[in-house]
Amino acid sequence: MAQALTTTDLEGTLPLIARGKVRDLYEVDDKTLLFVASDRISAYDVIMENGIPNKGVLLTLCTQTWFKTLTEANPSLRTHFITLDLPPQIPEHLRPVLQNRSMQVRKLRILPIEAIVRGYITGSAWNEYKKSGTVHGIKVPAGLQESQAFPDGPIYTPSTKAEQGEHDENIHPDQAVAILGERYAAIVAKMAVELYKTAHEYALKRGVIIADTKFEFGVDEETGEVVLADEVLTPDSSRFWPKESYEIGRGQASFDKQFLRDWLVSQGLKGKEGVRMPDDIALKTAEKYQEAWEKITGGTTN
Ligand code: ATP
Ligand code: MG
Repeated sequence: MAQALTTTDLEGTLPLIARGKVRDLYEVDDKTLLFVASDRISAYDVIMENGIPNKGVLLTLCTQTWFKTLTEANPSLRTHFITLDLPPQIPEHLRPVLQNRSMQVRKLRILPIEAIVRGYITGSAWNEYKKSGTVHGIKVPAGLQESQAFPDGPIYTPSTKAEQGEHDENIHPDQAVAILGERYAAIVAKMAVELYKTAHEYALKRGVIIADTKFEFGVDEETGEVVLADEVLTPDSSRFWPKESYEIGRGQASFDKQFLRDWLVSQGLKGKEGVRMPDDIALKTAEKYQEAWEKITGGTTN
C-alpha cells in the first residue's frame, strides 16, 4: 500500500498557522493561505495514528471540482479558491508531495458556524426526531421514516464550530442568528440551502444521493462579502449514498468512513486516542474515497 502523509513540514519556508484534524494551513502572504490536505482521518472526533493513502489528494481535487461546478451553476458565487499551483516560495524538493493536495485560498474570517444542510433524515437528526419529533429543534412533519427525504425540501440545520477537542453541537437556526447576527445568518442559511440543492441535483444524475453536507463560510474583510470556504462536498463533509441501493426505513450503505467506524466499534476502540488502523481497513476506506470521487466527478487522479 502507498505511504500515507499524516503531517507536512515546509521546513520553515512558509509559517504554519494552524493544523486542523485533516489540513495544515500555511500563510503565503497576508491575504493568502496554502491549504494542505494531509491523509489524516478522524472518526468519532479522534484522529487515527496512520492515514489513508491519497485521501488528501482526493479531498483537494473533489473540492476544486465542486467549486467549478457550483460557480458554473451560479456565477455570482464567490469561493476562497485561488489556484492549485503551489506558491513560488516552495522549494523543488517539497513540491511533489504537496502537488494536488494543496490549494492557495483567500484568507478569510471564518464565520463560527457549521452550515449543515440535510435533505434526508439520518444520523443525529434521526436520533433526535425519534425522541422529540424535531430536528435541531425544528418541528418537522410526523411519520417520517429513517433515511426519508424531508417532504418540504432540504432544511438548514447549523451546528456550533467547536474548538479543537470539543464536539460540535447541533443548534436551531435561531441560535445561529444569535451567534452570527441577522444579516450574516440569513445570507449563510440561504447560500447553504441553494448550494446543497445544486449539488444534490448534480450528484443524483450520477447515481449518488447527497444525504447531507456541511459548508463553511468566511467574510472577506476587504469587501465584506460572504465567501464559500473550506472543503466542499467531500466524503469527509457529506453523507453520500449510492442511489441504486437506497431504500427508506433503514440506514444506508455509504461511501465514507463506515468501514472504519464499524471496525472501531467492533474492537471497542470508539473514541480512543492513538489507534492504528490495520492495512485492510485503511485500504477499504481508501477505496471508498476513490469510488466517491470517481462517481461524482468522473475523474481520475492518474
Ligand atoms: P478544526 O479547525 O476545528 O480542527 P477541522 O478539523 O475540520 O476543524 P481541517 O479541515 O483540518 O479542520 O482544517 C481546515 C480549517 O481551516 C478549519 O478550521 C476551517 O474553518 C479553516 N478554513 C477553511 N477555509 C479557510 C479560509 N479561507 N481562511 C481561513 N481559514 C479557513
Ligand atoms: Mg474540516
